[in-house]
Amino acid sequence: MSALSAYLRDLIAEDGPLTLERFMALALGHPTMGYYTTRDPLGLAGDFTTAPEISQMFGELIGLWAAEVWVAMGAPAHLHLVELGPGRGTLMQDALRAVSVVPAFAQAIHVHLVETSPVLAKAQKETLARLDLPVSWHGGVESIPPGPAIIIANEFFDALPVRHYVNDAGAWRERLVGLDAQGRFAFGLSREVEHSIRINAPDGAVVEIGAVGQRIMSALAARLARQGGAALCIDYGYAQTALGETLQALQGHQFVDPLAQPGDADLTTHVDFAALSRAARAAGAQVHGPITQGAFLTWLGIFDRARALSRRADAQQAAGIEAALARLVSDRAGIMVEGGVVDGMGELFKAICVTAPGMATPAGFESVQP
Ligand code: SAH
Repeated sequence: MSALSAYLRDLIAEDGPLTLERFMALALGHPTMGYYTTRDPLGLAGDFTTAPEISQMFGELIGLWAAEVWVAMGAPAHLHLVELGPGRGTLMQDALRAVSVVPAFAQAIHVHLVETSPVLAKAQKETLARLDLPVSWHGGVESIPPGPAIIIANEFFDALPVRHYVNDAGAWRERLVGLDAQGRFAFGLSREVEHSIRINAPDGAVVEIGAVGQRIMSALAARLARQGGAALCIDYGYAQTALGETLQALQGHQFVDPLAQPGDADLTTHVDFAALSRAARAAGAQVHGPITQGAFLTWLGIFDRARALSRRADAQQAAGIEAALARLVSDRAGIMVEGGVVDGMGELFKAICVTAPGMATPAGFESVQP
């Protein structure tokens, strides 16, 4: 049994069952034993692979996107370029390399990385060590200094804890994690009824609420509305709020039981973009999208970028660029890549852009009404 499992078991034995949100928060973010706190989960050797790790094109295009947004903001002399959950720092590294073609933008930037994992913060420091730019680390979004900001969040919101409410003969009760007769983690329901949910649904239906993500979005949107700027959030998820749960656990690129190995498996959910958008609008910001990752990257010129890279590549590298391109933009299942067969991210992954009200439509979002 892992140290974290033993700790959670003691906690439940003493205080009673935990809400799913608390269980997830501890499993992912316990300061010394959490999943993200204790490892680098990315890449072939880890549990999942993200777009910046698939291809340099992803970060490069987002860097150039940010430069364009900065121009649309009136090219402020000082800009906070913020990334939430930057992983290994790969996206930021690729973005900053690309924007060296816009020196005035590069000169305006102060980079802020919001990261709770000491392991990944160390990886980010190594990745960005040779940069000639100010970089600061933060444990949360509250400590980013005021001023115009461009905020990037790739696969950040899916990593935050959620609450589940389960319909129990017409009453909504919060899902808890307790212990079964054998001492294993097991789902149960709160005795208290949650009266604020007024959805009619059959017995056993589940409502999933990303309250932590909504709170973070609300804080970001409020600052963007007051101080200017934009936030680009890219993640897997859905455009309309719907009944049902999406909690999943990943270990070594395979799905596992979410309760089986807290602290050793990645717990994640699909992002409810409609709920995030409501939180942003309620805080005074404007929301563009969602659009699919495939459409967004296509608008940003990923096909041209792939061709340009391929011209300088040998045959094997060119095949790698082709596979990465397909993986990032297409919705095709069964794409052959190094290490196996994967599904395209183009449709499942979506982007929204939250801006100060009245700002020009950000690049890539022209086809959707705010
Ligand atoms: N954006 C990166 C990594 C995605 S994994 C990429 O695309 O490759 C999720 C990232 O969010 C990790 O860096 C993780 O440590 C970080 N993270 C998870 N929960 C967090 C929280 N509550 N606050 C800040 N960062 C968090």
